[in-house]
Amino acid sequence: MKLDETTSFPILEAKNKRSIKAKVVIGCDGSNSVVANFLQLNPTKALGPRVVRGFTSYPSGHGFPPEFSRIKIGNIVCGRIPVTDKLVVWLTSLHHNSQDSKISKDKEAIARFALESIDEFPEDWKEMVKNCDLSFIYMSNLRYRPPWEILFGKFRRNTVTVTGDAMHLMGPYIGQGACSALEDAVVLGRCLGKKLGQDRGLDEVCRIRDIEESIDEYVRERRKRLVALSTQTYLTGLFVESSSGFMKMMLLLLLTILFYDQIRHTSFDCGLL
Ligand SMILES: Cc1cc2nc3c(=O)[nH]c(=O)nc-3n(C[C@H](O)[C@H](O)[C@H](O)COP(=O)(O)OP(=O)(O)OC[C@H]3O[C@@H](n4cnc5c(N)ncnc54)[C@H](O)[C@@H]3O)c2cc1C
Repeated sequence: MKLDETTSFPILEAKNKRSIKAKVVIGCDGSNSVVANFLQLNPTKALGPRVVRGFTSYPSGHGFPPEFSRIKIGNIVCGRIPVTDKLVVWLTSLHHNSQDSKISKDKEAIARFALESIDEFPEDWKEMVKNCDLSFIYMSNLRYRPPWEILFGKFRRNTVTVTGDAMHLMGPYIGQGACSALEDAVVLGRCLGKKLGQDRGLDEVCRIRDIEESIDEYVRERRKRLVALSTQTYLTGLFVESSSGFMKMMLLLLLTILFYDQIRHTSFDCGLL
């Protein structure tokens, strides 16, 4: 990506080397965002554990309640959510120090490794992982953008900005990554719409300044919410991963002081489009 020297609008380069001249670029390209890189944001940081996600079918029904269940034994956290009465999606963290770099593309090895990690879990959890659909099992390296980078980050360069994980990648500890990406979309759409008008769109008369101001308004509006979410996620992650009782107590205290209602973030209203 680069900026047009005459117009200052962004130019993207596709894989086939074709150039795309754009008025606005909204980078929603996830954790390894090329657009975040263009904005000169720091690369995201690695979190300790790797996570495996998978689906398991239960032809005769699973019988689990329609809610997210999560259990933790030692350092391993495993969660499951019913998708239908015969299908469950689940995730599990893996042992920290395992030499698992070679298995990231080997689906059978990933399943075996996930099963080994939950060796001490109840039978129904082990059965779930054992009987998973190997074509839909994935291992991810958890990464995050620290809350202080979200507080101070420069999320606009000319008419280029970012949304979703590209902007505010978080660990999955409070399950808000995708939800907040959707909020970004609503707020950015509203800010652009307000300045540019419903009928004008990004036509010739649209001034670069209007777009920049819209993006600035979007970043301003989102920053407070995202700093709060990523801080809560960060502290919750430290709490979950910590093995020291004292550290856990301090983190719990901090979480209680800062986020006295631990699920308040789930009722956030980002407004209408
Ligand atoms: C284990 C785990 C559990 C989670 N649980 C939850 C949860 O319960 N609730 C929740 O809200 N969130 C959860 N999340 C987070 C959620 O998955 C992400 O926050 C969400 O997917 C981010 O969406 P996104 O569109 O920003 O990025 P992505 O979903 O990563 O999408 C980015 C897209 O951009 C494409 N792309 C990348 N680079 C380029 C490029 N150069 N050119 C073109 N395309 C490109 C990618 O192929 C991809 O399709 C979880 C994440 C993990 C890892």
